[in-house]
Amino acid sequence: MTGLPICARCGHYVPNDSEPGEGPGVSSMSVPADAEQIWVCLPCGWHEAWQQAHGELGTPDSWPLQVPERFYKGLGSC
Ligand SMILES: [Zn+2]
Repeated sequence: MTGLPICARCGHYVPNDSEPGEGPGVSSMSVPADAEQIWVCLPCGWHEAWQQAHGELGTPDSWPLQVPERFYKGLGSC
């Protein structure tokens, strides 16, 4: 399959691996408010929220990065 959206942050499909191309994903929290927004996959959205809560949110300069497997298994498991 080609043409499916790939997450710029982690390389998985947007919005998630089980439903690639079935939605827009989420706007990345790592992108400054005055910059053009980047849409990332849902697990990345959860990972960013987790990182922000822990004061560890990075910037797109560190992309691509590895997101812990538990974030791909759904919200509530992290
Ligand atoms: Zn991602």
